[in-house]
Amino acid sequence: MKPILPPAMLGILGGGQLGRMFATAAKTMGYRVTVLDPDPHAPAAAFADVHLCRAYTDEAALHTLASTCAAITTEFENVNADSMRWLAEQGVPVSPSGDCVAIAQDRIAEKTFIRQAGLSTAPFLAIRTARDLETDLAPYLPGILKTARLGYDGKGQVRVKTMEEARYALSEMKHQPCVLEKMLPLETEVSVIVTRSARTEVVSFPVAENHHADGILDVSIVPARVKPEIAQRARAMAMQLAEALDYIGVLAVEFFVLEGDALVINEMAPRPHNSGHYTLDATLTSQFEQQVRAMCGLYPGRTDLHSPVVMVNLLGDVWGEEGAEPNWDILLTAPNAKLHLYGKTEARMGRKMGHFNVLAADVDSAMEQAKAIRDTL
Ligand code: ATP
Ligand code: MG
Repeated sequence: MKPILPPAMLGILGGGQLGRMFATAAKTMGYRVTVLDPDPHAPAAAFADVHLCRAYTDEAALHTLASTCAAITTEFENVNADSMRWLAEQGVPVSPSGDCVAIAQDRIAEKTFIRQAGLSTAPFLAIRTARDLETDLAPYLPGILKTARLGYDGKGQVRVKTMEEARYALSEMKHQPCVLEKMLPLETEVSVIVTRSARTEVVSFPVAENHHADGILDVSIVPARVKPEIAQRARAMAMQLAEALDYIGVLAVEFFVLEGDALVINEMAPRPHNSGHYTLDATLTSQFEQQVRAMCGLYPGRTDLHSPVVMVNLLGDVWGEEGAEPNWDILLTAPNAKLHLYGKTEARMGRKMGHFNVLAADVDSAMEQAKAIRDTL
């Protein structure tokens, strides 16, 4: 592939915060950006040259993307994989491919693929009809029933202890395809973001240690506080998965670390990931710049960590009654803290509004300072 150079027009399906940070990276490098998003207030629109305010399946909008963009990417996995395939058929480089997106958006396909690639997942049972539950469920109990599609931030999941509970939960989910996954005792959770371009081997960012609150990512700590051997293995597994997928673009891989240093893959996201937001401030290249580089057929940038870092998500909960702004004084006074807001006008509970990174000599002091800052918001 001939490298695509600035000021080429790059297209992105989805204009949320990930699209916004992608647009920022692309514009900084001199590219132009077209965003397709049906929301007139899409966070990415403020940074885009063109905002196609249309549905993701809108034919006229897809034609415009195909005829005006030199390369196209996506910021979320629930985009119509067929739209991505259609765009690729028009001769525009589309990354990641519609096929990779299709795998990532279906938990059954995803976990099956991971296993076939020789990597491990939690024990799971694919459930396409209620009949699939008529088997010995003991290997998967106690477990979590997860809808195969459209789950995020812990939504579409029910914890079940017995066969009866599993059957009841499935009927509550209106018999959508699901996976029943064994509940594993987690030591911790980590993630790895990899980049693979048509040009080179795959590269990975340092491992992030992730902590959730109410099913939503709360804090990422980098470097992860796991043995170096585990971190190395996680990076190798994530890169192996990208190779197996013949993936082009940025791929996020989430892991569970189990007792005895075992690592299993939880899931993947075919795009930059919330747990990689630390790369905006703590590595030479951000995950969004890597997305630009990969889709344009450039070499990925360096990924080594400049400083220990803690990323804290800012949810709508931090905003006051009637959307009153948090008190940014202390955060903006700290010379080693970096605020990133997504420009969303309405602060709802659980809605990702922004995040901040705290860089310090070690993760413990970064963590301590991050917590102290959060308490002042
Ligand atoms: P997100 O969008 O935040 O990635 P999701 O809806 O895709 O979430 P998962 O990543 O499957 O859901 O699960 C959310 C969280 O639930 C995990 O990060 C983990 O803390 C917990 N969890 C999920 N599956 C298991 C399991 N098999 N054993 C133990 N904990 C689990
Ligand atoms: Mg997850």
